[in-house]
Amino acid sequence: MKKLKKPTKRKRIKKKSPISFWGILFILIVVTCISVTLLFFHTAPFPMTDSKPKNLILMIPDGLGPDGVGLARSFKGKPLHLDQYLVGMVQTNATNVKVTDSSAAATAYATGKKVVYNTISIDNKGQALPTIMEAAKRQGKGTGIVVTSRITHATPACFYAHTSNRHEELRIAKYLIHSKLDIALGGGLSWFLPYSEGGKQRPGHNLLNKAKEKGYRVITTLKQLRKSLPQNPILGLFSRDHMPYELERNPDLKPSLSEMTKIALNHLKKKPEGFFLMVEGSLIDQAAHASDAALFVNEAIEFDNTVALCMKFAQNNPGTLVVIVPDHETGGLAVGEGDLNLLKNSKLSSEAIWNNYQNGQPFEEALLQGTGITELTVSENYYLFLDQRVMLPPHIRLARIISWRSNILWATIDHSLVDVPIYAYGPGSKEFRGVIDNSDVGNKIISLFDLDMSFKPSKP
Ligand SMILES: [Zn+2]
Repeated sequence: MKKLKKPTKRKRIKKKSPISFWGILFILIVVTCISVTLLFFHTAPFPMTDSKPKNLILMIPDGLGPDGVGLARSFKGKPLHLDQYLVGMVQTNATNVKVTDSSAAATAYATGKKVVYNTISIDNKGQALPTIMEAAKRQGKGTGIVVTSRITHATPACFYAHTSNRHEELRIAKYLIHSKLDIALGGGLSWFLPYSEGGKQRPGHNLLNKAKEKGYRVITTLKQLRKSLPQNPILGLFSRDHMPYELERNPDLKPSLSEMTKIALNHLKKKPEGFFLMVEGSLIDQAAHASDAALFVNEAIEFDNTVALCMKFAQNNPGTLVVIVPDHETGGLAVGEGDLNLLKNSKLSSEAIWNNYQNGQPFEEALLQGTGITELTVSENYYLFLDQRVMLPPHIRLARIISWRSNILWATIDHSLVDVPIYAYGPGSKEFRGVIDNSDVGNKIISLFDLDMSFKPSKP
């Protein structure tokens, strides 16, 4: 029955209009052409996402997990700059542990290889792993690091140093001078100076002098940083240890993360082959280790201001890929419904308040000055001064009391397992979509920039 029906229909069409076959073919061709044109124009406004990038800005908000992002957004009262660039989530475990540290985590980003806890860009046999920063330099790109921690601390160290122990920072300092990055800004001056000058290096080992011999311009003040900088490598160390927290920073004396980043971008954008810049909001992690919510939100907001600056740079300089990804979460942060005005009124870290008390200021006065809190409740007083079961140092107990008043809870003073969000903008940003491993981040950068990783890193 079915076979009989079809020919009759065809016959009818042929009888009605003999050119309809050509008409249909014509319509099909026209529709195909329109579809292809529409598809082309639809993708045309975003050509950069499909071509190869020339510059990389890798931004690491150390320890900023999903709840930390939410807390910073609530504190700010409107969306964060980074919100619109979310592309996926990253698993952060090290090879031998579920919960990583900053060195194993940053090694995955810097080398594309997953390694053991506490190690700085070496493999499980102790061999140095080439880093993306070293490879970029070998391929003629400009290189830079901007951090708010000591510049020898784990995260930045993974991009230029190689050691089985992240705590060997005196050796890591030598690697930094050896690396000859075009610009390196952060804290940690004491790790470059000998004992005789208040530093930690052996007598006669003044690494700043060595840096000058190698052609670096060495700067240690905000005034020097703001002067127009020459084209030689720049080493800027603005604090003896970590830089001050954003909440406690004196803007007349110390540069912010965003100001250092702006200067680094101005320095690197002149490089004809492009550049690699790593920017770390290092003290977000330190604030979370101290369970200090007021420090934490102010660090996160300053990091986000730096995101805005880098995105503006990327929009004005096509060919710039910006990848924003924490190395792990810190603090096991959980944020419930609560009033954040207490954090907005905070002027000092809990550690500074506690130190003021230890240095003779009456406790109530130190607390009022730092937070606006007039007095602690009976149970808060017991927790801070008397509870023998709590093993935490007093300034962390105080920080937790202040957090609890805003319904902010810290499950740990260490890192946690939770996946961290990854954000990207610019050519190649699509590559970071989905749930990926931390080593994938490094490998995708290697592939996007065609980096040759087949070399043996040199020692200082
Ligand atoms: Zn970290």
